[in-house]
Amino acid sequence: MANFIETQCKTFLNRLSENMFTIRTYSVRLSGNPYSGCQFDCAYCYAAYAHKFNPNVTPEEFGHTIFVNVNAPDVLASELQRDYVNQRKLIREYVALGTITDGYQPIERRYELTRRCLQTFLQYEFPVTTLTKSNLCLRDLDLWQLLSEKGLAVIGFTITRPTTIHCDIKHFLEPNSPSTQIMLDTLRQFVNAGIKTFVFMDPVVPFMSAERENVAQLIREVAATGNKKIFFGVLKLSPLTWELFKRRLMQYDTALISQFEELYLRDGIKEFDRSWVPSYEYRRDLYKFVRDQCQASGMGFSCEGGFYDLWLDDWASIEGLYRHPSGYNLWEIIRSRDGELVTLAQLNRELEVRFNTLTKAYLLQLGALWYERRLFFELPDITPTQVGGDLAYSYVAHER
Ligand code: SF4
Repeated sequence: MANFIETQCKTFLNRLSENMFTIRTYSVRLSGNPYSGCQFDCAYCYAAYAHKFNPNVTPEEFGHTIFVNVNAPDVLASELQRDYVNQRKLIREYVALGTITDGYQPIERRYELTRRCLQTFLQYEFPVTTLTKSNLCLRDLDLWQLLSEKGLAVIGFTITRPTTIHCDIKHFLEPNSPSTQIMLDTLRQFVNAGIKTFVFMDPVVPFMSAERENVAQLIREVAATGNKKIFFGVLKLSPLTWELFKRRLMQYDTALISQFEELYLRDGIKEFDRSWVPSYEYRRDLYKFVRDQCQASGMGFSCEGGFYDLWLDDWASIEGLYRHPSGYNLWEIIRSRDGELVTLAQLNRELEVRFNTLTKAYLLQLGALWYERRLFFELPDITPTQVGGDLAYSYVAHER
């Protein structure tokens, strides 16, 4: 049984800070969360840390104690009125609705906060995106369609296992979310309504859902819905996620604990100094396999990590104008010069032509990472060269 605590938020829109992780990973910077905590209670949940910042709860309670920001739609409306309409401090850029929660978890049926936020985005004609594991989003198909007709909506569906997977694995990983079949049917209805969709096939979990036949089967099932874009990633384990995940493994299958320890803690790497991921070779082999399957099925593909040479498309295909550059875009600008040296000034000029969302904070952090030689961490095909007093980078195809 979940416990719901009604709260009043002072602010709703939150801007991610610019750092190595955000610059390399995300094309969206604004987020807003109508809830904190999530009834889906996934074993691998990356967001449980958020309960460290909520009063009188621990990360262990993330799936059972849910804070409900009952005034979220009103605060959102006043922020858009003040910062977008009146003061012009905001320009249109995507807001990720629900980044530390699923905005369509069951309690949304009662509070309708996500629905009211969508109505607000529609009223102010501001772009919105969300990621969900729930078919409750069908209730709001009308709003998604209206936003979509104005080019202001993208919806992602987290679907990580094929319909054929053993039900024990589903119940262990995602005990309370709808089945894959229900989510494929939901996805199909959004595709048929002409709304831009993507499937977030992340995380697939080693020893459970990452086997080649599972992944290939799921890609076929997703392609059959008409969806055109997949983002793929294997499970990441932050120290907290690993602690919580391991506790559940103790109840499920203790033999798996040492297998995860071996794959992640012994043979893996700690990416961006945040979370463990399997080794470069493990991920590259798996991602390449998935890329080939997506290509054969006529879908776009992108993935986590610095495997940009495997991408078949980037977020431009669905997020259009209202996005920030991702790490892929930085890599791609240098790659497109075919071995020529590119300076920071040249990169910035190119970014300014392509993106109207660049902020001073982004450019400052980009410059710092560029000169600290950290921006292209783990990308063997991008090489720095000192040119007089400046630092430039070039692309040299690398045998991987
Ligand atoms: S749906 Fe997302 S936020 Fe909710 S428990 Fe699962 S991983 Fe966490």
